[in-house]
Amino acid sequence: MTDKQKQYLLGYLGYYAGVPDGIWGRLSGEATRAFQAGFGLEPDGVFGPATEKRILAVIGSGEQPVEKKAEEAPGWWREIRYFTRAEFRCPCAACGGFPAEPAESLVRLADQVREHFGAPALPSSGVRCPEHNKAVGGVWNSYHLAGKALDFRIQGRSAAEVLAFVRTLPVHYAYAIDERYVHMDTE
Ligand SMILES: [Zn+2]
Ligand SMILES: [Zn+2]
Repeated sequence: MTDKQKQYLLGYLGYYAGVPDGIWGRLSGEATRAFQAGFGLEPDGVFGPATEKRILAVIGSGEQPVEKKAEEAPGWWREIRYFTRAEFRCPCAACGGFPAEPAESLVRLADQVREHFGAPALPSSGVRCPEHNKAVGGVWNSYHLAGKALDFRIQGRSAAEVLAFVRTLPVHYAYAIDERYVHMDTE
């Protein structure tokens, strides 16, 4: 298997976000490490025969990665009606999804907003690692880095409508990202 093929396979599973160019750099190593950690291999970042065999089996079977931290989720999540911890994860895979835990105050507020509107809440960004935050153009001290911010929309509602309600709650800061999406954060 060539390095380019390895990058394609890691990309297919969402671990490699770069261009599959056959140049094996830091991103490729991190993607390999994240894949290995998710599928029970020693996460050494080296794409050897064992990793090759494993990734082909995973793609063939559609097996899902182990949510290693799922059992570590704080107990208050059981009181959250509308959101799962996974919806707050950093999507870039290389960081493992939870470089910070979603803040309880934030998740409870999100639940309240969802309850108020009685329509699906669709998160677009919760926790971010510094790399992902940079990639999406977030400010260096973004509340997303600390798990204290959520970007989301409410199905069928405008950002202005959602914001009007969000601002009645004890949020630290909230604003409309565009016509539909709202950013809110908590201390
Ligand atoms: Zn990340
Ligand atoms: Zn935001």
